[in-house]
Amino acid sequence: KQITCFSLNQLMSDVLSLLEPKALLMGHELTPAAPQEDVEIEADPEQIKQVLINLIQNGLEALTKKGKVEVGWKRTDQFVVITVKDNGSGIKPEDFSRIFDPFFTTKGDGTGMGLSICQRIISEHGGQITVNSRPGRGTTFQLYLPERQSRQ
Ligand code: ADP
Ligand code: MG
Repeated sequence: KQITCFSLNQLMSDVLSLLEPKALLMGHELTPAAPQEDVEIEADPEQIKQVLINLIQNGLEALTKKGKVEVGWKRTDQFVVITVKDNGSGIKPEDFSRIFDPFFTTKGDGTGMGLSICQRIISEHGGQITVNSRPGRGTTFQLYLPERQSRQ
């Protein structure tokens, strides 16, 4: 991985402008949660971008009627926490334990690779990914990333 120090706000704004047209075409909303303080993070920007794109795309694909994907980020003690929240279909309880498995998909045209790639990237950064979901109400993914990467 290519570790650099970068502005998460800038990266988020790039990702949002990349995916906003797609969201609008689908009739949905893609928005940052309230204005956020600038967060600097040490990580591989391309890989983090890939993770965000995968999570937001999943969120958009989970929306049924006109819905919304909201992205937020903040700094806590030693971690940067990124939230991707949708008000879509939610995850069925029986699927919950399998969503990070490679090739697991509930979509006719899905590859099932998105979340397994996200998990690998986040874990290679020393971070964690959590998910909360309520069937029929929506799903929230949270990424916990260390602010700094230890060098070896
Ligand atoms: P794919 O998108 O190709 O199906 P992923 O690894 O990205 O593969 O996701 C695996 C599965 O996890 C999806 O098929 C879906 O069932 C479930 N999933 C992931 N994100 C969401 C979400 N935001 N809302 C509902 N289900 C989701
Ligand atoms: Mg996917």
